[in-house]
Amino acid sequence: MSRQNFFSLEFFPPRDEAARERLQQTTQELLAVEPDYFSVTFGAGGSTQDGTIETVRMLKAQGLEAVPHLSCIGNKPEQILAIVEQFKQMGVKKIVTLRGDLPSGMGLMDNSLRYASDLVALIRQHYDDYFHLEVAAYPEMHPQAQSPSDDLAHFITKVKAGANSAITQYFYNADAYFDFVERLQAKGVDIPVVAGIMPITNFSQLSRFSQMCGAEIPRWIRLRLAEFGDDRASIKAFGTEVVTELCQKLIDHGVPGIHFYTLNQSAATLAIWRNLTI
Ligand code: FAD
Repeated sequence: MSRQNFFSLEFFPPRDEAARERLQQTTQELLAVEPDYFSVTFGAGGSTQDGTIETVRMLKAQGLEAVPHLSCIGNKPEQILAIVEQFKQMGVKKIVTLRGDLPSGMGLMDNSLRYASDLVALIRQHYDDYFHLEVAAYPEMHPQAQSPSDDLAHFITKVKAGANSAITQYFYNADAYFDFVERLQAKGVDIPVVAGIMPITNFSQLSRFSQMCGAEIPRWIRLRLAEFGDDRASIKAFGTEVVTELCQKLIDHGVPGIHFYTLNQSAATLAIWRNLTI
């Protein structure tokens, strides 16, 4: 891929010291990709939020570009602004801004933020253009949206609120991505939409994730994966082949960048990346 296009790599905050050490090692292995940045997910609740900040610190201490995610639902503006200020003090210039999902049983309070567009608007109101703000996009529609056109309209609200670029939910059907970008362009929206890519290494985990986030595993892929049963080597080999072909198609059609959901592992991402003609 020409370096006009870029790669980014997503981590989640490690849960303990051993996982932190493993992530340091994974980070070193993934430097082969020459990523433009590493992003770090953000969870609801204090301890995982601290984990995001600690992980961003760890990456920055290694001289790497680190981009925190920030989810807003259920938080009051002042709580969110305190975190944004902390990011700024740490030298963060880019944030992946999200709604997130309410933990079960938790309701919205008065005055709490409701949508990612509220978060984008809040940051723009207080920090003007200081941060580059990325938002989430759903080529196969967000699972809670009423319809694809409703979801697209809500996406455009985020762009109008000040989002600079987007990263998609993962997908295995390149046409869904191309269709989404075309529909955006038809509405005059041309911010870069980076393709979010989930390597395939574990069928049951992937099925669970996909059910939650509304990403479709095409029937033929599902059937092939199911047939491999516990044969993890075959699942990985087939997964690498399928996801390499997807990435290559996206690159050949001029995707602005690829964001790998690494799940804190290097092998699958590296295997795909090494196969690509870039
Ligand atoms: P929004 O853009 O706010 O949209 C959420 C839903 O509300 C959509 O159905 C949309 O159509 C609808 N909607 C939006 N505006 C309106 C409106 N004005 N009126 C009515 N409906 C509206 N989750 C985490 O908890 N932590 C993370 O770090 C994280 N990182 C992610 C990174 C990427 C690249 C992606 C794609 C997702 C990530 N998620 C993360 C998951 C994300 O938080 C969930 O998918 C969440 O359900 C939606 O977040 P959003 O920012 O897309 O929400």
